[in-house]
Amino acid sequence: MGSTAVRVAKVVALANQKGGVGKTTTAINLATAVAMLGKRVLLVDSDPQGNASSGLGVDVKKVRHHLYHCLVDGVAPAEAICEVAEVKNLSALPTHIDLIGVEVELISAAKRERYMERMIQPLLSDYDYIFIDCPPSLGLLTINALTAADAVLIPMQCEYFALEGLSQLVRTIRLVKNSYNPKLTVEGLLLTMYDRRNNLTHQVALEVKKHFNNQVYRTVIPRNVRLSECPSFGKPALLYDPRSTGAQSYLQLGREFLKNQRSSTGGE
Ligand code: ATP
Ligand code: MG
Repeated sequence: MGSTAVRVAKVVALANQKGGVGKTTTAINLATAVAMLGKRVLLVDSDPQGNASSGLGVDVKKVRHHLYHCLVDGVAPAEAICEVAEVKNLSALPTHIDLIGVEVELISAAKRERYMERMIQPLLSDYDYIFIDCPPSLGLLTINALTAADAVLIPMQCEYFALEGLSQLVRTIRLVKNSYNPKLTVEGLLLTMYDRRNNLTHQVALEVKKHFNNQVYRTVIPRNVRLSECPSFGKPALLYDPRSTGAQSYLQLGREFLKNQRSSTGGE
């Protein structure tokens, strides 16, 4: 592809209404890996908890604008986007706890599911990939992300109730696809916090693979203490401890992610 070609970003939402399954850890570290592999990447933090923003070292108390302003007040996203320190090609659109109000404020707005899609539209030519970190619910913010996305990546922890929650998520994806966004596909399921010594982990992984077969990433993310430490330093694992198994697993995931794009489009 020539350098003059217009980029059209692929938009990937990271969603699972179950809390604490590794959505944000994956958003931060996959976005970093894909940027380090040479792609221009934006991470949109669509969870009012703001963990993706702080995990990338953005101090939301100091930013003038954040996602809430872009979605609700019509502030241009360029006004809110910040570059991530030390990671070339990676930018973040940070959020703030105020975003929690969006779920209520937009409840009676016309086309309330399309606010994110409209906001992202003018950014599509600036990036190769736009990742959206979703909150742990299937509320309006997640519906907005799924409506704006080309694909959804589902991080899941290998534990007993994982599959139960998954069927609810699959129903929501189908609903969004049928009602608002026919192009939406499943990018892949990612097994996170994998513990090889734990028999239950192994059984759940087998079960997920039985149901979702080739949609499950070959790369699994092991439980790794470095991955849980690095957010408090505001750094992705690939900066905090690049040699750690956590950082290396996300780099491998980045490669697998990009390889899947080539095989699904016959080029990039
Ligand atoms: P929420 O639903 O609250 O947004 P989440 O799905 O985004 O949560 P994370 O915040 O990424 O999940 O992860 C939950 C916790 O588990 C965090 O403390 C994180 O640091 C830790 N964690 C995530 N992945 C791993 C891992 N592979 N190894 C060890 N700890 C991890
Ligand atoms: Mg999160």
